[in-house]
Formats: sequence, structure tokens, C-alpha cells
Amino acid sequence: MTPDNPGHTAVDEPFDVAIIGYGPVGATLANLLEREGRRVLVLEQFPQSYPLPRATHIDGEAMRVLQSAGIGEDLEPLLGVYARMRFEDAQGRMLIDWPRPITPGIHGWRDSNRFHQPDLEHALQARIARSSLVTVRRGLRLTGLDQNELGVTLVARDERGEPWSAQARYVVGCDGANSTVRALIGAELTVLAPSQQWLVADFILNPGAPELPEGTVQYCDPARPFTYIEGAGRRRRWEVMLLPGDDPATFARPDQVYPLLQRWVSPDHVVLERAVVYVFRSAIASRWRNGRVMIAGDAAHQTPPFLGQGLCAGLRDVINLAWKIDLALTGTADPDLLDSYQQELAPHVTQYIAEANRIGGFIAETDPDKARERDAMLLSSPHVMTPIRPRLGGGLRGQNANPLAGTLAAQPRLRADRRLDDLVGLHFAVLVTARLAARFTPAMHDRLRAAGAVVLEGDGDEYLATIGAEAVIIRPDHYIFGTAGTFAEAEALIAALPVVTVTRHDG
Ligand SMILES: Cc1cc2nc3c(=O)[nH]c(=O)nc-3n(C[C@H](O)[C@H](O)[C@H](O)COP(=O)(O)OP(=O)(O)OC[C@H]3O[C@@H](n4cnc5c(N)ncnc54)[C@H](O)[C@@H]3O)c2cc1C
Repeated sequence: MTPDNPGHTAVDEPFDVAIIGYGPVGATLANLLEREGRRVLVLEQFPQSYPLPRATHIDGEAMRVLQSAGIGEDLEPLLGVYARMRFEDAQGRMLIDWPRPITPGIHGWRDSNRFHQPDLEHALQARIARSSLVTVRRGLRLTGLDQNELGVTLVARDERGEPWSAQARYVVGCDGANSTVRALIGAELTVLAPSQQWLVADFILNPGAPELPEGTVQYCDPARPFTYIEGAGRRRRWEVMLLPGDDPATFARPDQVYPLLQRWVSPDHVVLERAVVYVFRSAIASRWRNGRVMIAGDAAHQTPPFLGQGLCAGLRDVINLAWKIDLALTGTADPDLLDSYQQELAPHVTQYIAEANRIGGFIAETDPDKARERDAMLLSSPHVMTPIRPRLGGGLRGQNANPLAGTLAAQPRLRADRRLDDLVGLHFAVLVTARLAARFTPAMHDRLRAAGAVVLEGDGDEYLATIGAEAVIIRPDHYIFGTAGTFAEAEALIAALPVVTVTRHDG
């Protein structure tokens, strides 16, 4: 990584973390770190945020990340119920049903929600605008990085091509699918499945528009696959697969779009907000970190949107990184803690990408014979889908054989009806029965302190009973670090925390 000539240094004191890219993933990371009191620099090449719709679905786990980032309540009134996804054949017969609960699930949020991505970006940026800890510099394009054992020098260019430079102890590239940081750390993109071209057309319904389906409908018609999506409020989207012979250069023109969608809408019913042909990619970066520089979000992985998981995966990345970087900055992290980032999440997101392609395979079948076979198979017995919930890969989980380690923890309501994550922030939570907590030794307390853990004694017994444990350690990213049924297991679990203990007591 060779920097350009830095010219002049605009900011002398190193930031704790520099984030490249002020999309939703970078803005979430900025909020998470800011809440821990970290000084953050955000560099963004464009003067304004992307104003048009992209993600329309957000899951309960991702909402919980946004709660940790401090904007859950701001976003809540803007969320819509995501009732179901249905798959229909060309005759309109239901092939697969995927109903979603409309009440909050284990995360304390509905498992699936409709939303408008610019609303989310606005809420994240509004919170940052109120903070003196985060410096946002727009109109600067990162061009180079140079690191040593103490930190990283960033080099950027402003809109006039003038160089600008700053220092940070860590850098995270949240700079999207065409990531500069990914190239600078020498990562390659590995293609996981063939890409597809789809038209994405977003509309706003006029008053008096005809009734449209609820949720999402996948029209598995081999003559032309379509997806219909009920967006937030009056927003509706259609996605249309391009077939051989379609011209991507003209396919998104309004005079082409309306005839394609005439089964559902006419120009009298809707306002076309935008139409664009996207390439749906399935790819993952070969490395997510080089020393003090990491990548997250679309910079690290890309998925077709059939499961509505691209952004959700990016939010998972940054909460995983935020607590690890925070411990590293505190000086109490195990030296290899940051290695666990890619080890845990690359296999995890790969499963989501595979599932998106499995679903996409049903939808995108254009061979009439194969489509007939698919329909016969799916119509022969009712098919109901459920979400996958992969376990984290390798990394920290390897430290104990507990079957729940690396799986998602629930967010129970604790004292005074407060939600767990609001009580602990970006810290380990230790829920432990009073009888077991009474036996914790000073050495155990030392390690918990080094990890910044919040011990909630006798306050989560109901949740502990549901998982059959006397104690559970929940990581700051809401995954279970491990559970214990006995004192010896609790001692081993606390000893396995990924921190170095600073002070030691006898016994
Ligand atoms: C049609 C469509 C539907 C989708 N539906 C869903 C869905 O329902 N649910 C879901 O979870 N996800 C969905 N996604 C995915 C989701 O939109 C993306 O995963 C998300 O926007 C990625 O966020 P990001 O912050 O990683 O990247 P981006 O939003 O791309 O932000 C990256 C930022 O980095 C900046 N940048 C780039 N290079 C530099 C540089 N060198 N210097 C400075 N700044 C730089 C860019 O200007 C940009 O602002 C969908 C995507 C599409 C296209």
C-alpha cells in the first residue's frame, strides 16, 4: 500500500478509527464507535447520500444492531410489517409460502420489516451530526493507505484533485461493491454464482391505485420471471429478469417499463421514481483484513437481493468489528482477536448468499420443462419456508464446545422492563443466577472487567431457564459466547474471553 504524495496533513492527531464510505454500513459503524467514546473520521467521495431506494427489507437481527447504534427508536415509526413472501407459478398457483410473524421475535424486533433505505441513512447521519466525536469529510476520495505498527496514514483527493491526508489507528473500508480499500489490501473478489441482470423499477402509488398484493410475490413464470415487493408506505417495486436478447441499455426506459408491468399498474396509478438495470452479483472478498485495515459490507461481499440480506449482512459485519476494534483500542484484546472477524463471518455470509441463490434458482428458471417439474414437485405437498440462522464460523467459538456458542442470543426484557441491549451497550453481557455469581473469584472478576463485561446477576433467570444454563455470556454483537451450568464451566468460559488480563489478584 503506497500512498500518493500526501501534500499536506489536514488533521494531525490520529483518529481512533477512519471509516471510508458513508453508506449505511459505514454510518452504522460510526455510530457504534461513537457510542463507545471513540474519535472517528468518515471519508465520503460524494457530496450527498444516494437518495433513491435500494434495500426494502431488514431483519430483526439487523434492527437490533441499529438499536445498539442508537437509532432503533428513530427508525421504528418508519418500519412497515413484512407479512410474507409467496412464490407463484405461471398460473398463479402458490408454490411456496413464507409467512413472517407480525409481532416481535427473539430480538425484540419483528423478524422481517419493510423500510426505505434513505430513511435509515438519514437517521444514522442525523445522530452523527449531533456528535462532536465524529468528523465527516465529504468530497474526499480515498486513494492510498500506508500502515505501520502504530497506525495508518490515509491519502485522499478532493473534488479539485488536491491531496488530503489524515492518520488513524484503524481503518475500515465500507466503500461499497467497487471498494478501493479492498484493492488496497490486496483482496480478490471470488465469484460464488453466476450474475444475473434484473430491471429494478420503483414506484409510488397514487391515491386510488388498485389493490396490490401484500408482502413480496415471486412470479416464477419461465416466460419472464418477475418479483413484486410491497415497500414502505406507498412505495412498490417490481423486479424483472432480463432474458437473452433484451437490451440492458433501453430496458429501463419508461416506455419499455410500463408495458412490462401492465398486468399490475398503469401510469395513471403510479409515479415512477426510478428504473435501472442492476447486475445481481454473488461474490466474496478473499481477505477482509490486512493488519490495521479491514473491509465490511458490500466491500466484503455481495448477494442477489432475493432474501433481502445484503445490508443486513453488512450491519452484522460492523457490529462484529466494532467491539473487537474497541477492545484493541483499549489495549485489552487478545492479539489475534481481529483475525476472528473474517473467520466468523465469511462462512456465515456465504450461507446467506447460497440460500439467496437457491431461492433465486426457483424464481429464475426459464426452461419450460424444468419449470413444470419444479411446479409439480412444489405443488405435490405444501411448502413453507423458514429463515436460515447460520452459526458463526470458527474464530472465537472454537474456544469451547458449547453447542449454543456462536448462535444468536435472544434479547430478553430485564429490570424495569428494559431491553438487554439497552442495559449493556457494546459490551459482553453476563446473565448469571445469584447462586452462581456468589462464587465468582477475584480473578474471574478481573477478566470480566478487562473484557468490559456487564454482569447482570439474578436478572435473567427466565432466559437462562429457556437455554438450560446457570450463566450465559452474550457477546456485544448479540451472539452467544458460551453458557455454563456449573462453577467449573463458568470459570472456564470466563477464562476463554478474548482479552488479556491487566491486573491480577491472588486466588
Ligand atoms: C435493488 C437492490 C435491492 C436491495 N434489497 C436489499 C434488501 O431488501 N435488504 C438488504 O439487507 N439489502 C438489500 N440490498 C443491498 C443493500 O442496498 C446494500 O448491501 C447496501 O447499500 C450496502 O451498503 P454499504 O454501506 O456497504 O455500501 P454503499 O451503500 O455502496 O456505500 C458505500 C459508500 O462508499 C463511498 N465510497 C466508495 N469508494 C470511496 C472512496 N474511494 N473514497 C470515499 N468514499 C468512497 C460511496 O460513495 C458510497 O457512499 C439491495 C440492493 C439493491 C441494489
